[in-house]
Amino acid sequence: MKRTYDPRRIKRNRSYTVQRLAELYDVQPNTVRQWIKKHGLPVLEGSYPTLMHWKDIRDWLIAWQAARKWTCAPDEMSCFSCQGPRKVKAGTFRIEASNKNTFMLHGQCETCDGPMNRSSSQAKIGTDRANFAPITTPHCAPIIAHNSNADSPLNPSL
Ligand SMILES: [Zn+2]
Repeated sequence: MKRTYDPRRIKRNRSYTVQRLAELYDVQPNTVRQWIKKHGLPVLEGSYPTLMHWKDIRDWLIAWQAARKWTCAPDEMSCFSCQGPRKVKAGTFRIEASNKNTFMLHGQCETCDGPMNRSSSQAKIGTDRANFAPITTPHCAPIIAHNSNADSPLNPSL
């Protein structure tokens, strides 16, 4: 049984250091660094010491933990509205750059129209883009600027 981390423990309107996030979830700072490096936890670009925005952490935890539970095909994301791996509705896929190494993939669920997201990295973004936005649609899905202040939770029920 994998350990789970409750996203509701992340407090609104603050940023977390690696150390503080590690303390919050009672893990080693190295575990948090692995989340950043291997699992795409977004960090605030140029911050030193490394800072993570509360909403990025919360969204990432929800997406990452769901992804561990459900096995998504390369062209699927986890839908929290109808609970499971789902295909993205045609024409709704977009990529948001969190920073130069981390991307959030967004789309609408083909089944229930709910919002879905998944993290990607510089190394995987080409493959992900090809999987989610096939060549029959405009080749490059637009990358929009990250807006950390957006007050629109990806999962409104939280
Ligand atoms: Zn759905």
